[in-house]
Amino acid sequence: MSRRKIIAGNWKMNQTPSQALELVETLKPLVADADVDVVYCVPAVDIVPVVEAVKGTNVKVGAENMYIEEKGAYTGEIAPAMLVDAGVSYVIIGHSERRDYFKEDDAFLNKKVLKAFEHGLTPILCCGESLEQRESGVTLDWIRLQIKSDLQGVSADQAASMVIAYEPIWAIGTGRTATSDQAEEVCAAIRQTIAEIYDQDTADKIRIQYGGSMKAANCKELLAKPNIDGGLIGGASLTEEFASIVNYNK
Ligand code: PEP
Repeated sequence: MSRRKIIAGNWKMNQTPSQALELVETLKPLVADADVDVVYCVPAVDIVPVVEAVKGTNVKVGAENMYIEEKGAYTGEIAPAMLVDAGVSYVIIGHSERRDYFKEDDAFLNKKVLKAFEHGLTPILCCGESLEQRESGVTLDWIRLQIKSDLQGVSADQAASMVIAYEPIWAIGTGRTATSDQAEEVCAAIRQTIAEIYDQDTADKIRIQYGGSMKAANCKELLAKPNIDGGLIGGASLTEEFASIVNYNK
């Protein structure tokens, strides 16, 4: 089964609105002929200007986070309906930085995944192991546990439409990339887990990204693996290098 690749930038807490617009304009001609889905996941304050700036192009906009309630007294949070109304299509859920710094656990992330689907947003659900977990040999068990917990109550059709990003924590922002074999092993195990929870058809449809210091120099090898359907790109999404990743097959 052939799955269309999806390359998403995770800008994190970078790019003021005016810097965001400059970056969009710089990348616009460079990503215009991509054979992959292109997504910019941007800080909340950048969403409205970036949605406006990519109108009529092949780029979709994602949020880096959202809250689990519809509206109300949750100072500082952003409701899914606000994202949808602003023109957002994707939302990153469970990035390791949110799990770690903001103590978001799997029960909470499961609520976010369900809420995103309720509003027609496509979750990019992140999972990944620490260096300690990798070295003690529990990586695959840990990832399976994360996926099973985060997808409670998600239907097969919903799962088939979403994106999972495998991001080993030790590879994020460190310059240390998982080898393509290490990344493929975990992405294959994620697909197998989806087949166990749902069925093979769902597993064949879901898109699984690798993230963790993916860059122009290593993306080809990673994206050639059968179970790696794209990349979630942090540091390299903030420069023209992102376009080289998007055009990895040209
Ligand atoms: C990320 O945080 O999603 C990420 C993959 O970051 P980087 O590419 O900088 O490692």
